[in-house]
Amino acid sequence: MSVKKQINRREELRQQLHTQGAQLTPQRAAVYDYLSGVEHHPTAEEVFMAVRPKLPRLSLATVYKNLEALVKCGAVSKLTYGDASARYDIRTDHHYHTRCLECGKIWDVDAREGFELLKHIKPQAGFEVKDYRLELLGRCRECRR
Ligand code: ZN
Ligand code: MN
Repeated sequence: MSVKKQINRREELRQQLHTQGAQLTPQRAAVYDYLSGVEHHPTAEEVFMAVRPKLPRLSLATVYKNLEALVKCGAVSKLTYGDASARYDIRTDHHYHTRCLECGKIWDVDAREGFELLKHIKPQAGFEVKDYRLELLGRCRECRR
């Protein structure tokens, strides 16, 4: 991302947070920047471990609060999987994921055909579809070693 784009995104993020009465604090910015820079979708614990060296006074509870503030204002999406820890995704558009069944990590996958496939699936009568997920489950490269 170019410097100009980065500055624009910062300002946009500041405004998104503002709509929810929240501020863009240095901690929130650090959490957001970390999410922007990783390929997979980390848990709050992973965000905490990664960001703490830069912000030694940061606590896990604060990371949770910051992530929730980013989710609430629509800047970040939250992925939940039953009892497993929630994961956070910088993308908020409709897209698909691969998920490793061993380590639990999640990555984006390009599948433009996903929506086309859905048209062929007919739910039972009276069922109103609100949303859908497409996930490829398997073992990641690290876990296959
Ligand atoms: Zn794995
Ligand atoms: Mn994603």
